[in-house]
Amino acid sequence: MGNVLGDLGTAWMIQGLWGLVSVFLVEMVRDVYHVASHVWAPLIRLHNWHHKAYRKDFTPVSAELYQKAQLYNDVPESLVMMAAMAMVAIFSPLWGFWLGCLYGAGFLGAALLRSQGLLNATDLTHEPGPLKTLPGLWLVNRTYHWRHHFDETNAYYAGYFTLSDKLMGTALSLKGKTVAVTGASGTLGRALIKRLAAQGARPIALSRSADAVIEGATRVVPWEPGQERALQDVLSRVNILVINHGVNVHGERSADAIATSLEVNALSAWRLMEMFLETVDDRLGPATKELWINTSEAEVNPAFSPLYETSKRLLGDLITLRRQDAPCVIRKLVLGPFKSQLNPVGVMSADWVAGAIVGLAKRDIRNIVVTINPLTYLLFPVKETLQTVYFKLFSR
Ligand SMILES: [Zn+2]
Ligand SMILES: [Zn+2]
Repeated sequence: MGNVLGDLGTAWMIQGLWGLVSVFLVEMVRDVYHVASHVWAPLIRLHNWHHKAYRKDFTPVSAELYQKAQLYNDVPESLVMMAAMAMVAIFSPLWGFWLGCLYGAGFLGAALLRSQGLLNATDLTHEPGPLKTLPGLWLVNRTYHWRHHFDETNAYYAGYFTLSDKLMGTALSLKGKTVAVTGASGTLGRALIKRLAAQGARPIALSRSADAVIEGATRVVPWEPGQERALQDVLSRVNILVINHGVNVHGERSADAIATSLEVNALSAWRLMEMFLETVDDRLGPATKELWINTSEAEVNPAFSPLYETSKRLLGDLITLRRQDAPCVIRKLVLGPFKSQLNPVGVMSADWVAGAIVGLAKRDIRNIVVTINPLTYLLFPVKETLQTVYFKLFSR
């Protein structure tokens, strides 16, 4: 008797786990249905109602449109979710999948009530008002989903788990974005600008040499470290600022070498960061602006250039500190040595590194590590996590 009960308990536990799996999978079904609703004509027609229903602050255009959107988009979507899970539950021993089906039924019930005007509360991702939070990293929030409606409708498909967008490379769209890159005439700067342009971005090259010819850049704006204020106007119109300039004094340790390293690698980058953060407005800024900063793997590993390490580590620390309450996403680019004028013996090609940066950014990776040194992949996350906790505890 005790054994029978024990077996029954184990069976329920196993099916309970399958139930949780099914809730995850039914969300993936929702995302696949959503992608199909942007490529397959019959579904596009139904899904258009959803996109027509909202103004830019997520207030419904009209009660009638909102109700129609629920009926023509959300009802069939939840029926497909239920059907997919029911099929698994019926044709396999995994009856736990009925939980996923029930989850879909919840969506169906809410959509039916809303379509009849019987439920006024909207779902969490479509609540009206200004966007106050950063886009969710693993779970979809309003800021994340807002971008699907008003930034790029062919990206940000995820409904609840952002994993589907990360897999598809649609967790960040660069299409139509104005991206300014410092250090633009350097090897990585040039490679990045080419890769960004290939994604449909509009790159602006920020470079010491005003007459530099940079493939893919829409224009070149002359700038050098120390002249940050002069960029204020440009930065206010930029969606993504990539701080990528730097200097390597190699083995030097003179007062001049210290001043140059600190000024170029840390202080000018920090001033640019602060100026850019000031341009992030509190209405749509969290959804439309980003900052990418190249801190290099010198943050955690030797670069055989003490002043390069010292200055890059200072910059890395300042970013970690400011990231605690930044008004927009800040990505660190933690890069290993690549072949350039600064480093003729680098192993990776700058073009490959640039491609990896763009690919990982499109998957919304916020600490982008690209290197051949396995230690960095291990050390950097540990260092960043511990330091984040430390900074949270001892700063305000
Ligand atoms: Zn929506
Ligand atoms: Zn859509």
